[in-house]
Amino acid sequence: MNKYKLEPQRSAEIYTITDENDFLNNVHGRFPFVQRTQCNVSYFAYCPFCLNPIQLVSYTGSVRAHGKHIGNGKKVLYFKWDYDRYKYCPYASHKPYVLIEDNERLENLVDNILYMYSLLKENFDKVKYVIEITLGMSFSKSFWKESIDLFLNSRAYMSPYLTERNLPYIFLYFAMQHQSIYGQIISENSIFFCALKDYADLDLTKVYSRQNTEYYKISGPKRYIELRLRLYDYKQQAVNGEDISESMVAAIDERISGKTLFEGRIILSADFFDNLVKKKDTFRDEKILEMASENIPVLKLR
Ligand SMILES: [Zn+2]
Repeated sequence: MNKYKLEPQRSAEIYTITDENDFLNNVHGRFPFVQRTQCNVSYFAYCPFCLNPIQLVSYTGSVRAHGKHIGNGKKVLYFKWDYDRYKYCPYASHKPYVLIEDNERLENLVDNILYMYSLLKENFDKVKYVIEITLGMSFSKSFWKESIDLFLNSRAYMSPYLTERNLPYIFLYFAMQHQSIYGQIISENSIFFCALKDYADLDLTKVYSRQNTEYYKISGPKRYIELRLRLYDYKQQAVNGEDISESMVAAIDERISGKTLFEGRIILSADFFDNLVKKKDTFRDEKILEMASENIPVLKLR
């Protein structure tokens, strides 16, 4: 992989491996990142996804310096292993991609999970923003409240696939699954727009324009239509060992007829949310933050 962290924390900064000298400068030659034995010297850091130890491999020749997971179970001075997370790490996987298994949960409520839980609570307006931009839709406050309940009840914050970067997408996948989208707002740029516009039983009513984009309310001229979001095939892959690329299929089904109006794969941005969280001077949606604060209880280490 071409990324590493210097602390086994979800909040820790992610660095890019360029070459051995750059790595040495960054760690100031310190233990435990630099470990010497009588006959050689090894370099270590943390995997940005699973936070397990990785070794910097640097050959002279055509292969670029990169990080590699150390064999499962092999001990490295100072570094701790978390086998649970290692099992699910796309960087460690020998398969072309890791497919999210819906029912997998980590067993222990550790600091890193608490961190992501508070990240959700304190940045819920930004989580909402990333999801709305990704789907080209805008959802009501009650929709979000219901989604939070689903997320908490399914204990999706314990999913081993969750990171500080994909939090909005994991939220979308677990909390908005099978939610009804009737009555919500859709942008003309949404991947779902044409399919909904062409569906005879629906009547999209223009509600407003923003930045030259028109927004419509999803409703039916005659009757309530039960349209539901369906999300599946969530993949995480480390393409050529570089940034983790994530994607999922989003579909809209009409529940009574069972007809699928649209389905398509959406590619998820690796750093959209992370950049948004780091940006301190952005507009904050206080009403949504207040709702999140009321509905997401404090989680404590057991
Ligand atoms: Zn890993």
